[in-house]
Amino acid sequence: MTRKNRLLEGIAASPGIVMGPAHVLTQEGQVSTRLLYTDQEVAEELKGFNRAVDQTEEELIRLRREIAEDLKEHAYILELHLLILRDRMLLLETQKLIKEQNFNAERALYQAFLKIKEVFQRIGDKHIRGRIQDVEAVYRRLRGHLTGRGASKTFEFPEPVIIVARDLSPAETTHMSSSQVLGFITERGGKTSHTAIIAHSLEIPAVVGLDNATLKIESGEEVIVNGVSGRVIVNPDEAMRRSYQVRREEFETFKWEVTQGSSLPAVTSDGHPTRVLANIEQPDEVSLAQKYGADGIGLYRTEFLYLGQRQLPTEEELFHHYRQVVWAMAPREVTIRTLDIGGDKFLSPLEYAPEINPALGLRAIRFCLKEQKIFRTQVKAILRASAFGQVRVMFPLISSPRELHDARLLLESVKGELAREHIAFDQKLPVGAMIEVPAAVTLADLLGREADFFSIGTNDLIQYALAIDRGNKSVADMYEPLHPAVMRMVRDVVQVSRKLGIRVAMCGEMAGDPLYIPVLLGLGVEELSMNPTSIPVVKRVIRMTSLSEATKIARRALALATVEEVNEYVNKEMDHRFPDIFRFGRPLVANRVL
Ligand code: PEP
Ligand code: MG
Repeated sequence: MTRKNRLLEGIAASPGIVMGPAHVLTQEGQVSTRLLYTDQEVAEELKGFNRAVDQTEEELIRLRREIAEDLKEHAYILELHLLILRDRMLLLETQKLIKEQNFNAERALYQAFLKIKEVFQRIGDKHIRGRIQDVEAVYRRLRGHLTGRGASKTFEFPEPVIIVARDLSPAETTHMSSSQVLGFITERGGKTSHTAIIAHSLEIPAVVGLDNATLKIESGEEVIVNGVSGRVIVNPDEAMRRSYQVRREEFETFKWEVTQGSSLPAVTSDGHPTRVLANIEQPDEVSLAQKYGADGIGLYRTEFLYLGQRQLPTEEELFHHYRQVVWAMAPREVTIRTLDIGGDKFLSPLEYAPEINPALGLRAIRFCLKEQKIFRTQVKAILRASAFGQVRVMFPLISSPRELHDARLLLESVKGELAREHIAFDQKLPVGAMIEVPAAVTLADLLGREADFFSIGTNDLIQYALAIDRGNKSVADMYEPLHPAVMRMVRDVVQVSRKLGIRVAMCGEMAGDPLYIPVLLGLGVEELSMNPTSIPVVKRVIRMTSLSEATKIARRALALATVEEVNEYVNKEMDHRFPDIFRFGRPLVANRVL
């Protein structure tokens, strides 16, 4: 008997609308609690565990090798899994529990995993905290080998299906092909989970974070997955199917139109040129930036090579990564941001050093000015890469002219070193300050004396201006890009830059959200750097906006006293001007942060 239609709500993780039969993946069994009684049993258990580690490693290396060409940019996830696999918290702890507590390997591994999970739960930064999913993926894979069940499922079905699972690891997701898997629904995960990111690249519609999905949906039931709205309809009736068809066609047409225009220049309808750049974290992402028509790289976050590593990257390693990006983007500009690490983004995610207020702690430029050896190595690699194209360097979290001055002094000293060694670099390498602390806004005129450009990092600027922890779910609804205080700060920085004749860009998430584009243009921001997937939609909004209208919108928004009024005004204005962008365009923008 077919059950009645049901509407379920989750989180839209990968845009697209599909319909098909559900295939529910069953859950894993319980962890065995068997104890070991003899030394020989312990020795065998340890041997079995070490074998499972080796098998897991071989499997990850094989997966990395076999990863499909169009997914190569995600190979770093498998690298990360290899690192996690060899992390001592997972390995040594498991071995210790086997030896000292006589736990069987499966239970010991589970306990070690729970301990790591606890550490992650205390981390303030939501993105780092979210990486527990990667530890869990490794744990599950390892456990699969331990229990002989294997961990990587390959997906083969007699007909294309919609997968419903508790969770899917990134590796499992990479094994899906869009001809076999129409879409998927998971109970776990959020917009920034790796699984969501990969689904986005594979263009497989997905809804994640749907509580008890595996219990609410049965295999074989017809399901509509709306990866735009986050809704799932089980057993749709005739009217629902018809409306599904209409929505799907509208969405596909919109997506096609937007992507078509992504290589066109971002000029406003009244002829003002702007620049739309990409934010990247990895050299591999350059191809995505190019695919979507980026005018350059406006923010190259460089933390990846430091995070999760047991050893610091060498100058050579850094240089090769940077040069790869610079070469690939030439002659377009690449803005390399120096290390933004410290606080809760510590050198290894498993070596978290607790601080009471990590966001206000030893982070970014503060960390680098203290750990000068690490900083010099990076600056040297950036300077060397600058000989191969158009490079700019920028320093994060600048809060005083002194900091900028000290960073510049170090840069000059490294230049001197390179010159003595007869190593080429760009003598005129532009130096920028990120404006992401309110003090930097207030002192922009002084910072401008030593900066060739500014880049407004709204992710942090909003956090520090409004005292809203950007990783704290409980205050997430107060994190308001259109807050009058934030808009005034952007306006002030633009005005100072104009007076001083230096370029100003914006590289926080705000710059990649179509909703804010006319306001930002109206405030005078002419360079916007964003997640590559945002570029087509943002360019479309820019091309459909005139600067004179944008100026009026910004002026009116600035005249309003409360954020509620600004939100209401801007939303109404944008909804009226760009109805399709608001139905489809915002979900097309992937929420991708390190
Ligand atoms: C920002 O703070 O807006 C920014 C771009 O830097 P990150 O998100 O890396 O802190
Ligand atoms: Mg920042």
